[in-house]
Amino acid sequence: MPELPEVETIKNVLLPIVKNRKILGVEILRKSVVYGLKEEFIEFVTGTSILNITRRGKFLIFHLSEQKVIISHLRMEGKYYELAENEALSKYARVVFHLDNQTKLCYDDLRSFGRMAMSDEASYLTSKPLIDLGPEPFDITDVNFLYKQGQKTKRPIKTSLLSQKLFVGLGNIYVDEVLFKSGLHPLTPTKYLSIDDWEMVVAHSKSILKDAIASGGTTVKSYRPGKDISGNFQTQLRIYGRRGQKCVVCHRNLRFIKVGGRGTTFCPQCQLHAHSPLKIAIVGKIAAGKSTVLDIFMQAGYC
Ligand SMILES: [Zn+2]
Repeated sequence: MPELPEVETIKNVLLPIVKNRKILGVEILRKSVVYGLKEEFIEFVTGTSILNITRRGKFLIFHLSEQKVIISHLRMEGKYYELAENEALSKYARVVFHLDNQTKLCYDDLRSFGRMAMSDEASYLTSKPLIDLGPEPFDITDVNFLYKQGQKTKRPIKTSLLSQKLFVGLGNIYVDEVLFKSGLHPLTPTKYLSIDDWEMVVAHSKSILKDAIASGGTTVKSYRPGKDISGNFQTQLRIYGRRGQKCVVCHRNLRFIKVGGRGTTFCPQCQLHAHSPLKIAIVGKIAAGKSTVLDIFMQAGYC
């Protein structure tokens, strides 16, 4: 699934291709991809020019002439690419924008989970779905609001970060990377994060997302940022997708659990669950070796 760095990469690849191109016509090949009436969408877009493309969280925003806006979410497998007018469409093409330079901007979506919605410059940021989003991580300079918001919920920190309401940009790949680098167990209740924890989460989010954007994002399964361009960040993933392997830091076996239904890999040593200490009783007869076992635990730093 494309996350913030992938969407940023798509934006950067698409913009020079379609900027200032006039849309001569639109074909909607899968109705469910477009919110509202098909005819209404076609009329809304036809004849406008693409002035700019921006990103907010994982949404791509097409800024058209006449103050019109299209909000596009790629969900699982949506992707944009450019073809010459005489090139054949893929069988997964769902929406096709015919441009004024003998090219077409195609939107492919294998499972058609992606969505496009019509909006306008005056209201797109202050109406759903964008109104519900937290700030961009790169804009955060003070973590106090995160600490205060976090105090209100016992939900696991991973679930809170995935909701995009505290701040945007961490999907299932990067949230595991950020929590690993921050040394936080993914099930830690959000309310237990200190100001220092939040400082760390935000700092690592910024650096990991920045590095991922610089590498063109992560190519995972069907996602590719543009024609003939592959994201290279997967080579830098330190925890995501490493189920069954050893931790790159402490060499212990990584663990895999589900958090809010999402597959989660973490290191039980580097990401200790600080707020639910493990209690182990050592029982046995006199001289059975209880003290020896206790010594071993103490030497290993467990008590
Ligand atoms: Zn480790």
